[in-house]
Amino acid sequence: MNLPRTLTILGATGTIGVNTLDVVARHPGRFRVIALTGATQVDKLYEQCLQHRPKVAVMADERAAGDLRARLSGSGLRIEVWGGPQALIEAATLPEVDTVMAAIVGAAGLPATLAAAKKGKRILLANKETLVVSGRLFMDAIRDSGADLLPIDSEHNAIFQALPMGFSGDLAAAGVKKIWLTASGGPFRNKTREDMAKATPEQAIAHPNWVMGKKISVDSASMMNKGLEVIEAHWLFNARADQIQVVVHPQSVIHSMVEYLDGSLIAQLGTPDMRTPIAYALGFPERIEAGVNALDLLGKGLSFESPDYERFPCLKLAFDALKTGGSAPAILNAANEVAVEHFLTRRCGFADIPRAISHALEKLDPSEANDLEALLETDRTARNTAALFLESVKAA
Ligand code: NAD
Ligand code: MG
Repeated sequence: MNLPRTLTILGATGTIGVNTLDVVARHPGRFRVIALTGATQVDKLYEQCLQHRPKVAVMADERAAGDLRARLSGSGLRIEVWGGPQALIEAATLPEVDTVMAAIVGAAGLPATLAAAKKGKRILLANKETLVVSGRLFMDAIRDSGADLLPIDSEHNAIFQALPMGFSGDLAAAGVKKIWLTASGGPFRNKTREDMAKATPEQAIAHPNWVMGKKISVDSASMMNKGLEVIEAHWLFNARADQIQVVVHPQSVIHSMVEYLDGSLIAQLGTPDMRTPIAYALGFPERIEAGVNALDLLGKGLSFESPDYERFPCLKLAFDALKTGGSAPAILNAANEVAVEHFLTRRCGFADIPRAISHALEKLDPSEANDLEALLETDRTARNTAALFLESVKAA
């Protein structure tokens, strides 16, 4: 048997992290977990350490790292515990690690994911915000280091599967006309603007088809998730905005499609369970068991609708940011992260999310940012701009 793949899982305590460890546990001997990271959930990372026995456990929060160290000291296991954001980068670039699951949520995942790409690690990319904020930098790092990049986002994983094996990044040469990015439409697909303006966090995170972290769930409700995915598809597949077609498909059975010049439309279908794309990327190029229930197609209808850019302005804002280019997508992402956090903590309404993003995009200059420092600076400025706007709205 081949040597086991050696893994760092960034964001192990999140939805994607937990699903990744579930697939890993189904294949004893095939994978070796070297490092697990979390932010603040000590109990969860502690349990994961007992089960998967990594060499290193990282908590991004220093105090949580101290708590985890204390808990593990009595376990008899020799696990090093590191704390702080720099430790995420160290865990992602350990020499004995060949594969990094990038599953931190938000721009917080960027430095470690980029560092892993520069070191030539095989990247399993769930953290779409990395591509939205730093698409060019990240794709250049992948190209220069020769790293493998496998998308975890279900739509992009579907597209990857529907493209020719070894796709070179030239859609025209591959005979591709268009990419069809499917969207469930989220919990507010049939809601009016007035209903949405009154939406609570509980209503927004109640996704009809997928179980996900809170931030991406709110993004799905506003359809910003699809907007971020349009930008993600642009970078992953070298697709122009006009080559990416969003289609609302409420059943989440087709995970996306590739349209070829000859009229063929190739789709990937499956039960909406993230363990399918995770297992695909973990095993690539082999197919491995994922623990996913087979898709039962009998009696199911599949339907398709055009997206409504009026009711879902975030989707339009994302398309516009992609067309503007430069750091516009980074501004969009930062303002969105802040607005979603405000919404989840009941400091603003659902309709304030696109307002805060528009405000930041209007206020700030989307000039090209070509290095990590400049991008992080743009990210900080956009966060402050959006936060000030939201506070002024609240006070009014
Ligand atoms: P989640 O909220 O469930 O988990 C987030 C993880 O990131 C946790 O482990 C948390 O500890 C960690 N984290 C949060 N803030 C951090 C910080 N400042 N520093 C270090 N670590 C931090 O989120 P999720 O649903 O698992 O999503 C993770 C990523 O995967 C997101 O980028 C999301 O868009 C993407 N994604 C998720 C799904 C899904 O089904 N959940 C599908 C496609 C893509
Ligand atoms: Mg997705």
